[in-house]
Amino acid sequence: MIFIQWVKTFFSLLFPHVCLGCRAWQDKSLCQTCLLTLSPQLSIRTDLEGIDKTYSLFAYEGLIKHLLHDYKLNKIIDHKTIVSELMLRTFYELLPVDDFFNPDTLFIPVPLHPKRLRQRGFDQVKQIFEPLLNSLNKKCSPVVIRKKNTPFLHTFNKKEREKTLKDAFELALSFDPNGKTIVLLDDILTSGSTVKAVADVLRKRGCARITVLTLCGVAI
Ligand SMILES: [Zn+2]
Repeated sequence: MIFIQWVKTFFSLLFPHVCLGCRAWQDKSLCQTCLLTLSPQLSIRTDLEGIDKTYSLFAYEGLIKHLLHDYKLNKIIDHKTIVSELMLRTFYELLPVDDFFNPDTLFIPVPLHPKRLRQRGFDQVKQIFEPLLNSLNKKCSPVVIRKKNTPFLHTFNKKEREKTLKDAFELALSFDPNGKTIVLLDDILTSGSTVKAVADVLRKRGCARITVLTLCGVAI
């Protein structure tokens, strides 16, 4: 019995994770084989008023849904590296980099409410996009503030979402978006109501062009 326990401890030190896909002991939380099964599925939307285009790199389903859910809601921070590397790799595989690589473009994360940030302990959007922004020699511009701690909106209809998101965001006092080209960053695009609420605030103050980039998109 003691010997079995010892072997288990030894293995868990060598391979401290169980692969989320195949359940094999690994040194990462997703093995290379399972990682390669994650195929991107680019979706582009142009139906959100005030937003030129949205780009989502993966369909929000299967293993990546599991990965993102565990990372964000179960706070399994080990998934951070996998998720952010997927973002980086897939961005260069699928997207016209010139659309994003403009010296004046600002990259603005959709912010968490301070209360939710304290509860979670990290901002998943900033973490997911960090390697990508580093590679573009860009920084996150946290100039949008979330005033209302809105609940998860996936069970709400369009009217309820609009009502909940009314006056949910404001801009930092020192920030002038007039004439700026902006890429809004988020982890998942669902109905698009949240990014649209942020875009409305930016548009009202004269922002010139808004594109949205998310890791996952939900088919609507
Ligand atoms: Zn695996």
